[in-house]
Amino acid sequence: IHGNWKKVISNIKDIFDFREVLGSGSFSQVFLVREKKTGNFYALKCVKKKLLHHSNLENEITVLRKIKHSNVIGLHDFYETRTHFYLVMELVSGGELFDRIIDRGMYTEKDASDVIRQVLEAVSYLHQTGIVHRDLKPENLLYYSPDKNAKIMISDFGLSKMSDNSVMSTRCGTPGYVAPEVLAQKPYNKAVDCWSIGVVTYILLSGYPPFYEENETKLFSKIMKAEYAFHSPYWDEISESAKDFIRSMMEKNPNKRYTTEQALSHPWIIGETARSHDIH
Ligand code: ADP
Ligand code: MG
Repeated sequence: IHGNWKKVISNIKDIFDFREVLGSGSFSQVFLVREKKTGNFYALKCVKKKLLHHSNLENEITVLRKIKHSNVIGLHDFYETRTHFYLVMELVSGGELFDRIIDRGMYTEKDASDVIRQVLEAVSYLHQTGIVHRDLKPENLLYYSPDKNAKIMISDFGLSKMSDNSVMSTRCGTPGYVAPEVLAQKPYNKAVDCWSIGVVTYILLSGYPPFYEENETKLFSKIMKAEYAFHSPYWDEISESAKDFIRSMMEKNPNKRYTTEQALSHPWIIGETARSHDIH
């Protein structure tokens, strides 16, 4: 039984006016569009069918449509043409996480803890519904609005599964966020998202990535051994609690790694220990 969401059309331009490009990812382009019928604005993600070798997209869309969380970008609608899939997503306007941090000069552990708590709440919700992101990285963490206190929203959840080569493209594009077990080509589960959240936290607090090598072979080997450090002087002023949180998330063994539930009750996330002075 198909839901009434499945809409096969001949031309997407009958439905939407296209405005600017909002971004492009590994297998899609995202446009700002205006729905002709309602005048509403959305982010329209256009995916070429040719790039997918996936038979189960409809099931995934059904799951994604049920997702409702204040820190997850909602899927509003779904269209299909002969050549493309189109995902009509809630539009956000606050830009990507790291762009804002760079713009904003002042940043504290408390600010970082606040962002990571929102990410954990969203990911925890998604894990409960059986969705694993697999490709959680800063480009997928967007601010809802330009407002200073805007909430953070996760985009792209579950969609990385749509691409057969998602693991490969992840490995080529941004291996820095990928968990050791993924690179080791072991079977993996939702623990990979917790690793990625650990990496994002590391970068938020230090301003640089935990793994950096000119040579990809070396990079993979460092990640697979979870070989990272809190270098002096960059980490000297960061609380022991923050480091403990990162160690618990960037734990090499996925069975010992913190789950989102454990992470959500860590003192650094609850707000007991995150320092309130400037870090960069
Ligand atoms: P991909 O799966 O191909 O990586 P994404 O869904 O991550 O595509 O979108 C790529 C870029 O488009 C994002 O990094 C972001 O800058 C922009 N973008 C995505 N979704 C939205 C949205 N709902 N509102 C505004 N911009 C968006
Ligand atoms: Mg993306």
